[in-house]
Amino acid sequence: MSLKRFHLFFVLFSLTGLLFIYLYIAHLLETNIDAQVKSNIRSTSIELRQQLRNDFAILQQRFSNHETVSLEKLEEVIAYVENTTGNFDLLSVADSINKNVFDGHYEVYIINDDKVIEKSTSIADIGLDYNAYPYFSKELDQLKNGVDYKITAPMFDEYALDMSQYYVVRAANDKWVMIGFVLPFDEYVNHKVEDLKTVFPSLQGLDLFILTYDYIQHINTVKEQKNIGELFKKNSQFTKMIMDDLQLETTAEVSSVEAIAESFSQRSTVTLGNGLSSDTVVYTLTTSSSENDSDDFMLITKMSFDQNYYLSDFVELKNLMYLFITFVFIFMVAGFLLIHKAIIQKISAIVEQMHKDEPIELNGFLFSELKFFIQRYNTFLLNWKEQVRHLNDITMQDELTKCANRRYFNQKMKSQIDLYQRYGQEFSMIMFDIDDFKAVNDTYGHSQGDHVLSTMAHDVHEQLRVSDVLCRIGGEEFAIILPETNLESALFVAEKIRKRIERQTYIAGEQVTISLGVESYSPEFDFNSFYTTVDAFLYKSKSNGKNCVHSSIPISS
Ligand code: GH3
Ligand code: MG
Ligand code: MG
Repeated sequence: MSLKRFHLFFVLFSLTGLLFIYLYIAHLLETNIDAQVKSNIRSTSIELRQQLRNDFAILQQRFSNHETVSLEKLEEVIAYVENTTGNFDLLSVADSINKNVFDGHYEVYIINDDKVIEKSTSIADIGLDYNAYPYFSKELDQLKNGVDYKITAPMFDEYALDMSQYYVVRAANDKWVMIGFVLPFDEYVNHKVEDLKTVFPSLQGLDLFILTYDYIQHINTVKEQKNIGELFKKNSQFTKMIMDDLQLETTAEVSSVEAIAESFSQRSTVTLGNGLSSDTVVYTLTTSSSENDSDDFMLITKMSFDQNYYLSDFVELKNLMYLFITFVFIFMVAGFLLIHKAIIQKISAIVEQMHKDEPIELNGFLFSELKFFIQRYNTFLLNWKEQVRHLNDITMQDELTKCANRRYFNQKMKSQIDLYQRYGQEFSMIMFDIDDFKAVNDTYGHSQGDHVLSTMAHDVHEQLRVSDVLCRIGGEEFAIILPETNLESALFVAEKIRKRIERQTYIAGEQVTISLGVESYSPEFDFNSFYTTVDAFLYKSKSNGKNCVHSSIPISS
């Protein structure tokens, strides 16, 4: 696996990991925030109940005040009943009592033979048989059995919004006088949310939806109705709205008020701001006592929370977390880019250049380790090349004349023949031998002979092109390989060399000459036959008096 690919995998792996961590933390925070909101809602809901309980306590106090007033007035009404024959104005009695109260109203009833015979407010209940009215029949029975009067004012419990009346009753002249204080909740509950708020100050400032007994009774009595939710939804635009808000399943099979209440409280959802609004809307549901179905109702409270107020700490933490992760992300990406540009790319470039066996050249920023590596490598490479060259010189060069040696001559010849056979690239060869060199040695000494050899080689070199190769193939025998040179040109070169040597004075008073043979390579040759042929032309020159050139064609001077 290449470093580049490994790095790519590593980057992808790391970034994916980071993404998962990011999502996990976000999820964790959201969950915590959700829990925090719910706990706030719960405590607010508990607070609301507590406040309602206080409101009820105040109401209860008010009722007991009314009870005192009622008992006083009861004596007045009894006096009327005992002392006055004929009709008396119950309404004015009731009105005189009502002057003392500021909510609800009093009603005065006169009952004979268990039937209402007179009533202060209206004639609606005249003739009503209290025996047939279970709400009162028990109390009337007790009164008949000698109990002087009875107050039917049940205590308020915290949800007893259904309690709206109490009665004070007393017997006189075979009649019963009953004074009732009415706090008309039915009206409030059914029609006037605002009035309810004046009775229960705790509810002020809250959005209230009241589901009255009518709906609930409907739900409770239609037992075969399975789709309670749907029915519930149909019955009131308020309930529909709430259910839509709560995304309440309309198919919920709920069969009692408690179950509906339970269902509501479980689903009292938290709608987080989503950037549109910082308000969290919460619904809480309060039911009246379920002991007496006929008076049940539900109170649904819609409350808005300022999310920022409750969650400022969490939101801060969340933002901090996102900021941190974003920072880590940027830091990682920057790190990956740096590693890619400053290390991976450089190493790839180094490897690419190493393939060429040339010194490495890299521009731009380099870490000191890489710089050191490149410098060391370049030094080693140059040293190595120098060594190779040196070894080449040793093996391929003649020490005395600095010409190529016989080994190199063989190698070069083979490669030229190869080029000729492959690409038809022509070449020629000149061979020459110093005339009567033995005599030079004998007369002037071996070191003079050596001097002649090296100086002559130098002179011949000067007559050649860079691509021509001068080789010492024997004691005082030389060969010149001339690439891309035809026979005419080779002959010309040979003659030029011959003349140059002829003119040159190598040893004072002594003329040194050479004899030459020339031929151009052609398809009928191979290495040996070509060599032999040129050698034969050389000896032809020797036998023709030396200091001359011979070839397959005559020389044109
Ligand atoms: P010819 O004209 O027929 O070539 O006569 P020649 O005397 O040159 O021929 P021969 O082959 O008889 O002699 C070659 C001589 O070259 C013999 C040897 O002493 C001399 N020689 C060969 N190698 C060296 C060398 O490295 N240094 C010196 N000084 N002389 C050498
Ligand atoms: Mg010779
Ligand atoms: Mg010789």
